[in-house]
Amino acid sequence: MTDSLYPIAKVAHLLSLGQPDELVLVRGWVRTKRESKQDFAFIELNDGSCLANLQVVVPGELPGYATSIKELSTGTSVSFKGKLQASQGKGQRIELLASELHVLGTADPATYPLQKKGHSFEFLREKAHLRPRTNTFGAMARVRNAISFAIHSFFQERGFLYVHTPIITGSDCEGAGQIFQVTTLDLARLAASGRAVDYSQDFFGKPAGLTVSGQLEAEIFATSVGDCYTFGPTFRAENSNTTRHLAEFWMVEPEMPFYELADNMTLAESFVKYIIRQVMEKCGDDLAFFNERIEPKLLESLNNIISHNFIRLSYTEAVEILQKSGQSFQFPVEWGVDLQSEHERFLTEQHFAQPVILYDYPRQIKSFYMRANDDGKTVRAMDVLVPRIGEIIGGSQREERHDVLVARMQECGLKPEDYWWYLELRKYGTVPHSGFGLGLERTVQLITGMVNIRDCIPFPRTPKSAEF
Ligand code: ATP
Ligand code: MG
Repeated sequence: MTDSLYPIAKVAHLLSLGQPDELVLVRGWVRTKRESKQDFAFIELNDGSCLANLQVVVPGELPGYATSIKELSTGTSVSFKGKLQASQGKGQRIELLASELHVLGTADPATYPLQKKGHSFEFLREKAHLRPRTNTFGAMARVRNAISFAIHSFFQERGFLYVHTPIITGSDCEGAGQIFQVTTLDLARLAASGRAVDYSQDFFGKPAGLTVSGQLEAEIFATSVGDCYTFGPTFRAENSNTTRHLAEFWMVEPEMPFYELADNMTLAESFVKYIIRQVMEKCGDDLAFFNERIEPKLLESLNNIISHNFIRLSYTEAVEILQKSGQSFQFPVEWGVDLQSEHERFLTEQHFAQPVILYDYPRQIKSFYMRANDDGKTVRAMDVLVPRIGEIIGGSQREERHDVLVARMQECGLKPEDYWWYLELRKYGTVPHSGFGLGLERTVQLITGMVNIRDCIPFPRTPKSAEF
């Protein structure tokens, strides 16, 4: 091939380099076609490399024009060769004047599901194999990519080690019973035989499941090689059909030795701001699109987040504010209850109108591994709450005192012997340490303004839904 193949994202740049005579090859999928009476056609071509389409002018004198132009309906894949030129029309700066075209694969207009008109997000979820071809889901894929990259660069720049924690595990980090079981036992046969399950016959010789968090294993590395993070898929069988929960989501979990709760909060705040800044820099067009089509206050709210200090507030203070707010919440607030999304959103959208980090939560609503405060009532937990979503990060300083941890496990109904290795970290050379977990899809939600978390991951897994 003598001519250079270009993604559309690079084409505008080419023309600015002043190489008007170079023949350029582009490939992609037809978004729209407009045929003119004067025997030529305009094709809007998209290849997913950027939000913008490239306008291709197809002159009538092209060999095979009459046949090919009929085939160029929405969804058809095609390659064009031609010269770039400044566009005469309104709305785009450059166009390609085609001198060659090859239809690669047709898309029958009678059945191709993505026609020109907009589709509902519900409809597109059922067409998850085609939705990345739409503006919204192309943009979502690019933003998600930029966020993932920013997550790595934030930690790599700070010398954190990326550790891979297991997907299949025998320990339930949150102790909340939301584990998807992993087994090779033949359940149908077992049920038919009426016999009790014997896990010693199972693959691992004991019950196992998909991880709900890599934190416990990350703590092993934090207390040996130093600052580290794990970033991977996480599974929770929560039967809650909300716009903020998935059964499979990605979580990044940094874990730092010698960090106390305040250090943890400072890192979490810089992390969220860093990700937003990076995406603003790399995906400006995509964010402008989300601002125009999805959430009109998106850019304003993102700018607000990066330019102010997050509010830091104890859980107890938050409860007082909520009780005095005069709002009628669906779930009434009193000290000791877990805050609901409606409360978190009241604080971040109305009361403070910016992110809030709540800390020192009641011990009875938090996990066993969080460090107990001296008041006997609260633990060193912290949640980062943001407008439109509520909790985006959950974290804590970890309990590093062996005996306190054992007592707490017993109180939570956990068997210390199941966590023998976790306890040994406290027995041999224990150190104060902290960490947190940020949900990737909730971050995508925050940065794109998309209302439903199912539209923030390529293939959402939710109750009764695991297609694709
Ligand atoms: P929530 O109270 O909102 O259910 P959580 O307290 O159970 O969340 P953590 O265990 O603290 O969540 O997990 C850390 C982060 O992981 C959360 O702040 C959130 O961003 C994300 N997360 C947790 N559960 C889910 C889920 N089911 N789907 C998507 N993201 C989730
Ligand atoms: Mg949490």
